[in-house]
Amino acid sequence: MAHTSNTAAGVDNTFRRKFDREEYLERARDREKQEVDRVKSKLKGPPVQRKPLKHRDYEVDLESRLGKTQVVTPVAPLSQQAGYYCSVCECVVKDSANYLDHINGKKHQRALGMSMRVERASLEQVQERFEVLKKRKTPGSFTEQDLEERILKQQQEEEQRKRERRERKKEKKKEKAAEEEPEVDPDVAAMMGFGGFRSSKK
Ligand SMILES: [Zn+2]
Repeated sequence: MAHTSNTAAGVDNTFRRKFDREEYLERARDREKQEVDRVKSKLKGPPVQRKPLKHRDYEVDLESRLGKTQVVTPVAPLSQQAGYYCSVCECVVKDSANYLDHINGKKHQRALGMSMRVERASLEQVQERFEVLKKRKTPGSFTEQDLEERILKQQQEEEQRKRERRERKKEKKKEKAAEEEPEVDPDVAAMMGFGGFRSSKK
C-alpha cells in the first residue's frame, strides 16, 4: 500500500491549484507591453502649452437673479436650471461661493486655454500699475461737499421710506377694520338674513 507510482518524488499528487509559471509570465509580458504602449501614446501627442493666467475682463454677475422666482423643471435646459450656469464648461453650480470657486478653478481655466501658472511680472509692469492706480485715485477722492450731499440724500431716502411705511400701516389698518366689521356680531347678521349688514358703531 505504501508506495504507488504517484508518490514518487517530483510527481504531483496533490489537487491544490498550482502557480502556473508559464501562464503568469505570459500575462506579465502582456501587461508590460500595454503599459509601454500607453506611455508611448501619451508621449506621442505634443505637450499642451497653455497660456498663463490672465485676469478677468468682465464683471462676475452673481446678483442679477437674486430674489427672483422662477419655475424650474427637470427638463429645462441647463442654462435655465436653478443655480449658476457656466457656459464654458456647460455645468450648473448651486451657489455663488461654489461658482466663484469654479470659475477660478483649474478645470474652468483649462477650458479657457489657460494653465494655473501666473506670469511673473516685470519691474516695468509693476511701475506701470502703480502709475495707473495713482491716476485713478486723485480724481476719485471726494470732498466735504460730496459728503454733505450724500448725507442729505440718505436722509431724504430715509424719510421717504418712513412715509411709505406709515402709509402701508394705515392701509393695513383699514383692511383689518373692513375684515373685522362683519364679524362683530355674526349671529345678529345671520338672524337678520343678510351678511352685508353693517353695524352702526364706528
Ligand atoms: Zn466653467
